[in-house]
Amino acid sequence: IAPEAREHLHLAETATARNYHPLPVVLSSGEGAWVTDVGGRRYLDCLAGYSALNFGHGHPRLLAAAREQLERLTLTSRAFHNDRLGPFCRDLAELAGMELVLPMNTGAEAVETALKVARKWGYEVKGVPADRANIIVADGNFHGRTTTIVSFSTDPDAREGFGPFTPGFRTVPYGDAGALAAAVDEHTVAVLLEPIQGEAGVVIPPQGYLPAVRELCSRESVLFVADEIQSGLGRTGTTFACDAEGVTPDMYILGKALGGGIVPLSAVVARRETLGVIRPGNHGSTFGGNPLAAAVGHTVVELLRTGEYQARAARLGAQHRERLEALIGHGVRAVRSRGLWSGIDIDPQLMSGREACERLLARGILAKDTHGSTIRLAPPLVIAADELDWMTEQLAEVLAAP
Ligand code: PLP
Repeated sequence: IAPEAREHLHLAETATARNYHPLPVVLSSGEGAWVTDVGGRRYLDCLAGYSALNFGHGHPRLLAAAREQLERLTLTSRAFHNDRLGPFCRDLAELAGMELVLPMNTGAEAVETALKVARKWGYEVKGVPADRANIIVADGNFHGRTTTIVSFSTDPDAREGFGPFTPGFRTVPYGDAGALAAAVDEHTVAVLLEPIQGEAGVVIPPQGYLPAVRELCSRESVLFVADEIQSGLGRTGTTFACDAEGVTPDMYILGKALGGGIVPLSAVVARRETLGVIRPGNHGSTFGGNPLAAAVGHTVVELLRTGEYQARAARLGAQHRERLEALIGHGVRAVRSRGLWSGIDIDPQLMSGREACERLLARGILAKDTHGSTIRLAPPLVIAADELDWMTEQLAEVLAAP
């Protein structure tokens, strides 16, 4: 621990609510895939703000867009129009093959928005009797931290002490299309899924699951809502994780990288027949769609329109996966990966995921454990191939010398 960090760690202990258990490193600057701590030590960032930093720290085009907008206009509220929101929404809708965008700020807010839209669509379009709508979710989900969202979490730490919970949700095993079909009834308005479950440890459903969900939803007149907050916007080697299976949901929920790692920016993106149920007064947010966020988000869409980042994630991801798979049997039990996103199950007898991450930290690598013995890697998509190789070597050494 850098001596300069001690005061910050002390303040975190004494003045900050303990809702996280961060690794003991205090960062003060970043560029590309690298960050520097208060003592001047550099680290390769292999978490990238849980995928909010897909374009790396301080991407020049994103910074330029933010700076230019900071000087002009930062907030109007939605009581007035601003000249940034429309072009951003038009181009984001086009990127997603949709028609309308409802901008919010955090991921959880966008999930809440999608749930409200699905219920209203259910009552107004599908004809579900008032207050009878149900929404189906998956075991092991992570969609955020609001009261309604933790109501259908299956993680006891996320729920305990926060009841009473919001009714109207049904949970089915993730990846089991038959169980999903059995849970749908005439009052089901939506199926809400992560196309790959991030917080659960980068859990990839069996091939054919997403197409089966799509087919079921179309047949039963149910909205397929894809939470692509963590999986979307290039991370998996395609613009959306759903693309890999040729599936288009009825609503995308986006966040994290949409704000370029600079501002909180999330959105629900859907066709007019779905998002059109929202009318003035039904929903909103003071900061949602603010010109600063829209300017950054618009530049994110421009970066993604080239396909360059998606291709890079696919190419580097394939190489990286091979290197990681070579560690199976050498301290690694299983690797799940898609693009530049991996969940690595290490042998729990060797050490915990937390301990592995602490040892990686000592070697200049930032990564985060999940569920005891899984290390989750999600480096910025601008990382270089030799940096990925270096990271894998460090991991191999950590696991070889417990
Ligand atoms: N949905 C998914 C799939 C996520 O991974 C996350 C955050 O990790 C969220 C929703 C919540 O986003 P936020 O933390 O911005 O509220």
